[in-house]
Amino acid sequence: MQHGRWNHQGVSGGSQGGRDGSRSGKRPARSFRPHQNMAASRGAGRFPSRSHASRFDNRFPPRRGGNRGRGFGTFGETEAEFTRFINKAEITEKVEHFVPEHRFADFNVDERLKANIAKKGYELPTPIQDRAIPHVLRGEDVVGLAETGTGKTAAFLVPLIDKVLKHVGERVLIMAPTRELALQIEKELAGFARGTGLRGVVAVGGANINPQISALRHAPSFVIGTPGRLKDLMERRALNLSGFGSVVLDEADRMLDMGFIDDMRFILATMRSERHTLFFSATMGKDIERLIGDFLKSPAIISVKTRDTAKNVDQDIVRIPRGKDKFEVLVELLRNPEFNRVLIFGRTKHGVEKLAKLLSRQHIHAESIHGNKAHNARVRALDAFKQGRVQALVATDVAARGLDIPAVSHVINYDLPSTYDDYVHRIGRTGRAEMKGKALTFVLER
Ligand code: AMP
Repeated sequence: MQHGRWNHQGVSGGSQGGRDGSRSGKRPARSFRPHQNMAASRGAGRFPSRSHASRFDNRFPPRRGGNRGRGFGTFGETEAEFTRFINKAEITEKVEHFVPEHRFADFNVDERLKANIAKKGYELPTPIQDRAIPHVLRGEDVVGLAETGTGKTAAFLVPLIDKVLKHVGERVLIMAPTRELALQIEKELAGFARGTGLRGVVAVGGANINPQISALRHAPSFVIGTPGRLKDLMERRALNLSGFGSVVLDEADRMLDMGFIDDMRFILATMRSERHTLFFSATMGKDIERLIGDFLKSPAIISVKTRDTAKNVDQDIVRIPRGKDKFEVLVELLRNPEFNRVLIFGRTKHGVEKLAKLLSRQHIHAESIHGNKAHNARVRALDAFKQGRVQALVATDVAARGLDIPAVSHVINYDLPSTYDDYVHRIGRTGRAEMKGKALTFVLER
């Protein structure tokens, strides 16, 4: 692994008290080398078609009534909020040498698993892996505060695969907010478990339930699913959780945002109480704390502060003059060769679908992902985009969550995000690792 790929600002670990949620035994945050910000590279690479883009310039007075009006609850409709969409990227390359305490070769895990890890080209653990894996190997509950892109998937898969290999009959349930994330986890699992005979089944909504019911009859070691579908399968008696000793909640905050709280609680409450629980979330809010307090036992808390995504992404707004159609502006931008792998965000499933179709009519190869699209069609669209066969992927916030798509050249906020948090998630799809990304937000002039 190259240094600087995991340019996190720090890792801290600690323990939290038990089910009552008390904070006993909290260790002080461990700090690593200070964040040494390399010189910011300013002034580089403005996007070429600047006719509609301008820096914030105060010409338009702030709109009264804040977020109300078009796109109820939309963030960024006032000039004051626009400024948050503008930022010149700082390259945070090699901001810090994270020095892991372990190497994968040092972990006491199954040799086949080790060989598969090496085959994937992972040599050194990422910060979340370095800190979480030893706790999970000891059978301790873990709360990992980490985003997508930090290597959190392997942080739970590696020790849990080892556990399943060492304990015959051990079964693991993984809850994830979206089908795409569930599929991504399954893919990683298949890579790590190659040659061991372990199998994972993906049980997500939007796909035909019958093949999932049949697959579950073979008692796979790993079941990866979205909470709604998992609950559905339990109610149909196709999934019995009594045999599951381990559970992972991946992107728990996203699952809460998506309204899965009751299903999550139902599933956790059904599982046996002496289970092994791993909990991953990018953020820590009140509801998250409550869930942790209710369902985890003295977890080790590992916080990986990722680099500030926003800093690695060149952000600007594209003002759409009154009378001009934003679709035309989008097409103009996409005609630019620099815009070669563009993720475009829309607010509604219908709007996203329509936009992809309109782009295709302009001979711009575009696909869409959103909740109304059949599962297989979403997978196909995503793969085509990942492999560079389509130039633009139009997505809703929900459908794009947690996806690891390499080398996205631009993120375009065709419709404004609902919250700043959504904005940060959107632009986090570009500017991954050491690459500088570009994010453009369309703002309608009034
Ligand atoms: P995740 O946060 O789990 O979605 O992982 C983000 C990306 O990092 C994925 O493409 C992984 O394949 C990759 N990755 C995870 N762990 C490592 C590692 N230790 N070394 C190199 N790449 C890794």
